[in-house]
Amino acid sequence: MSSATRIVICGGGAIGAATAYFASRRGAHVTVIERHAVAGAASGKSGGFLALDWCRGSALDELARRSFRLHAELSAELGDPWGYRRLTTYAGYAVKDDAGRGAPGRPWLAQRVAITSRLGTPDTTALVEPRAFTTGLMRAAEAHGAVLRHAPVIDVVRDGSGAARGVALAEGEIVEGDAVVIAMGPWSLLAARWLPLPAVFGHKGHSLVFETGGSIPAEALFLEYREASGEILTPELFPRADGTTWVCAISTLGPVPLDPADVAPDAGAHARLEALCRNISPALAAAPIKARQACFRPVTADGLPLIGAVPGIEGAYVATGHSVWGMLNAPATGEAMSEMVLAGAAQRVDLAPFAPGRLPPLDDADF
Ligand SMILES: Cc1cc2nc3c(=O)[nH]c(=O)nc-3n(C[C@H](O)[C@H](O)[C@H](O)COP(=O)(O)OP(=O)(O)OC[C@H]3O[C@@H](n4cnc5c(N)ncnc54)[C@H](O)[C@@H]3O)c2cc1C
Repeated sequence: MSSATRIVICGGGAIGAATAYFASRRGAHVTVIERHAVAGAASGKSGGFLALDWCRGSALDELARRSFRLHAELSAELGDPWGYRRLTTYAGYAVKDDAGRGAPGRPWLAQRVAITSRLGTPDTTALVEPRAFTTGLMRAAEAHGAVLRHAPVIDVVRDGSGAARGVALAEGEIVEGDAVVIAMGPWSLLAARWLPLPAVFGHKGHSLVFETGGSIPAEALFLEYREASGEILTPELFPRADGTTWVCAISTLGPVPLDPADVAPDAGAHARLEALCRNISPALAAAPIKARQACFRPVTADGLPLIGAVPGIEGAYVATGHSVWGMLNAPATGEAMSEMVLAGAAQRVDLAPFAPGRLPPLDDADF
């Protein structure tokens, strides 16, 4: 397809925004259609943690390494409105009382927290504020001519030969295109009714954002924490450049609501998380809570994303299922999708492990 190609991208999360950015930068006529809000789902509520080499040994390694590099380039090129920062990353554990070894030199951590190892350095780990990253990429795409529309996509429109030629919106309007990219996160499951696509599931995660100002340095933490009930939680704590600190734990497998605006936390999950935070850090205990969040990460049956052409349907593409690494892998995914649609193949990463046709498509009986 030529650079005059009209690309309709369904979904304004990090994957849709990155695809819009790279495709519009190459001159394509891009329309992004978002049902709820750009970054209104996981791409605005996630941790935003990035790692160069934590996917080594897996099929994701090349995509992750390319993405880590692109994150640094994008923040430099686009003026870093999303607080890109390199940081050191540690592992540790918290015991129930003050009997831990403590974390010397870290007054913001409670005595019950012991740091056990360094997982990453500023050369290998980094952080972005995910909502600002996603909206920033979308704005940059719009500066290259991309158009953002707010509406639910309800179908993919095909021509007489069966090729995808646009999408239908809930109000009845058709948005025409030469290519359609499904990037609706866990809601990509809906597109399995429109195209031969495998299942995408949603795993719910809960998080809190604290106003910590300068009280916590640029150190990310991955902890083990035993609750009074004996249950082990694995909180992650990411201090951001904007003076907030994001903490998550407590994942569940609740049903994904049809409307992304209806995602709600499980009863009691935020209270548990808040108690944990106040137990592991006097700085968190003293800090006001800015946001209480829940969101779904998109997951496939084999844990790898779906990135590529939909088998047998000319003009139809999918980019979803990035699970816990969607913020990290958004840039290389967007770059590869733009290359695939506009130049016929991805040029910098091998998308073969992510071919949508590797998993069986759903059929009507599955719904
Ligand atoms: C708690 C938690 C923490 C995480 N932490 C990290 C992390 O630290 N690092 C990392 O790399 N990744 C992290 N992730 C994973 C990452 O957030 C996701 O992989 C990523 O956000 C997925 O992006 P997406 O664009 O595919 O989907 P989404 O962000 O879900 O975006 C999909 C968009 O599609 C829209 N949509 C839905 N239906 C329709 C429709 N019918 N028509 C039009 N639009 C529609 C939705 O409104 C939504 O905006 C985390 C995830 C969770 C849940």
